[in-house]
Order: sequence, then structure tokens, then C-alpha cells
Amino acid sequence: MPKARETVLEIDLKALKHNFEYLKSKLNNNTKILAVVKAFAYGSDANEVANYLQSLEVDYFAVAYASEGVALRDAGVETPILVLHPQAINFKTVIERCLEPSLYSAKIFNEFIAIASEEKQSNYPVHIKFNTGLNRLGFSENDVDYIVSKALETSAIKVKSIFSHLAASEDLNEKTFTERQIKTFKSISKEFSKAIGYQPMLHLANTSGVLNYPEAHLDMVRTGIGLYGFGNSKEENKNLKPIATLKSVISQIHTIEKGETVGYNRAYKSEGVEKTATIPIGHADGIGRQYGNKKGFVTVNGNKAPIIGNVCMDMIMIDITNINCHEGDEVIIFGNHPNASQFADATNTITYEIITAISQRVKRLLI
Ligand code: PLP
Repeated sequence: MPKARETVLEIDLKALKHNFEYLKSKLNNNTKILAVVKAFAYGSDANEVANYLQSLEVDYFAVAYASEGVALRDAGVETPILVLHPQAINFKTVIERCLEPSLYSAKIFNEFIAIASEEKQSNYPVHIKFNTGLNRLGFSENDVDYIVSKALETSAIKVKSIFSHLAASEDLNEKTFTERQIKTFKSISKEFSKAIGYQPMLHLANTSGVLNYPEAHLDMVRTGIGLYGFGNSKEENKNLKPIATLKSVISQIHTIEKGETVGYNRAYKSEGVEKTATIPIGHADGIGRQYGNKKGFVTVNGNKAPIIGNVCMDMIMIDITNINCHEGDEVIIFGNHPNASQFADATNTITYEIITAISQRVKRLLI
């Protein structure tokens, strides 16, 4: 692998295949896999990731918004795409581009039926979302009769699946709560299928649901973070491989005297003669200000180098006093070691935030 000569996010498709197969190995043969590729496939590269997963015969994709589904269709993705959080203003586009909406409230459900009827659709596939405890989006369990009666009144749509989302599947201290969500969802499913006269596809588990709750696998699982290389524990992380490595390069090295300061607001003050290196990546690239002042760190020639002072828009400065390195040397922000989860721990956030924050300015490079 050639060393980075600018800031790049390398995407390792072999690691993606490994993660896909690992998650699949946890499921029985009848359970389908939906890959969540919203937010640029968790900050990686949605088009490349989706096309590659399509070649591995993934069953479904999910995105948050219609525009993300349109981008995938434009990139040649033909696999069904669930839009998790569609807005009524985009329903015509949803239909034109064969995207499948999640319908989570009476308002959005009726708006979709109206547009699907206007567009002369028949049996257009929709997915009904139920709230079982996350209290974010979803019908309540008391809405089953209403949804079924509306669905049976029209031939414009057909309920292809019903689903819900777990609130804390990664946290085994919340096992009782998660088990209650699973039970509630199963009871809604039973009632719904009986009322509508057939069994729609059922799905509930995210990555941690796959790893912690086999009884929640049902007909399909919706995996995001696991595909990108992160499980719900340090143990599980060993079985998965981060697909993205964020790399950069040393632009310039300075030697500073005791008492000199580094960067904006003079936030870092040297305690002796020190060596600093400037790296071309900043908050406009996704390295937020919260990683400055020794909260975040990078790796230079295998050594941990703290980020010192405030993060600038296009640059960070790091302390390399005890590291043998030169201008032009490669810097790893995260990848296999340190991985984004360690970076997240050091800065008191979650891996999801770290990886999805990498801005589109950073060049994506397939390896
Ligand atoms: N399902 C829904 C509805 C989601 O919003 C998400 C992610 O936010 C997922 C599944 C995937 O979750 P995870 O990345 O934890 O696998």
C-alpha cells in the first residue's frame, strides 16, 4: 500500500466482505440482510459500498432520505432500497426511482397513499414502522386496525414489511427493556398479519441486535455499523475489520521553545523545547474542535501523537517531541490501530459520530 501524500480516506472492500460474511454467519439461512448505507455509508462511500454489497447479493439497502436513494439508483444500484425517513415532498421521486418508503405516522401514510393513487400505482411496496420504545418515529401498537383498514381500502400500496427499531441493543444492562421491545414487536406482528390476511416481512435488529439477540433476527436484519467494522464490544470489534482508514501527512515540523504557544487562541503552551507537526486535516474535514487540546490523537510511525491546541478549519498540530519523523511522513488518524472506536473513547463520543463526520472534502480511495 503506497503511503498517503495527502489526506485520504481509504476504503477496504475486502474488510467489508469480511464483515458482511461475519454478520451473515450469525443468521440462519432464511434471514435476509439489509445494509444501512445512509450518510454516505456511514461516512465511507455509499456508491462503492452499495455496488460492492450488491455484488455480494445483499438483500436490501436502507437510506435515511429519498435523495440518498436517488444517488444510489444513479450509481447503478438495483437492489430494493428502503427510505427510513422520507418526507412527503419527495414521494413522487420515491415512486419514480422505485424507492420504498417507511411510513411511520397516519399523516405520512395517507399522504403516500394519495400520491401513489394519483400516480396510478398498484401494490406499491411500503414498510410500516412501529414505535416499541425508542420514541423517535413509528405508529403505536394501537394503530394496527387503522393501518390495516386503510391498506385494505386501496390497491395503490401493499405493506411489504413491518418493522421497529431497538433503543439499546448494544447495552446488556438494558436487556429487560430490549426483550420487552422484542415481545411487543412480535405481538404487533401477529395482530397485524392476522388483520391484513398475510404475513409481511418482519425486521427489528440492528448490528447489536444481530450480535446480542438471535430471537430478534426474524425475516431480515438491518445492519449498519457492523458492516463498517464495529461491534458492540471490544471483543466483537476483534471479529470485525474497520473498512475505513483516515490518513494524512506531515506538512511541516516546528521546534518551539519553552513557553511558546501553538495555534489559535494560543490554547497550547509548550513546557519545554518541543517539536510539533502540522497536518492538513481540520474541522472542515470532520476532526471537530472537541478533539483538540490533547483529547484526540493520531499515529505517526507507530507512535501516538496528541493533537495540541485548537483544531483549525484545515489543519491540526500534533506533539511529536519524542517521535522520529520527517515532513512528508504518513499520519494515521484512525484505521485498524488506532481504530475509530478508540478515537471515540478518547473524545467521549461514539464511533458512529467519528466515522460519519468525515466530510466530502476528503478524497475517498478504494483499496
Ligand atoms: N435501522 C434503523 C432504523 C436505523 O436508524 C439504523 C441506524 O441508525 C440501523 C437500522 C442500523 O443500526 P446499526 O448501525 O447500529 O447497525
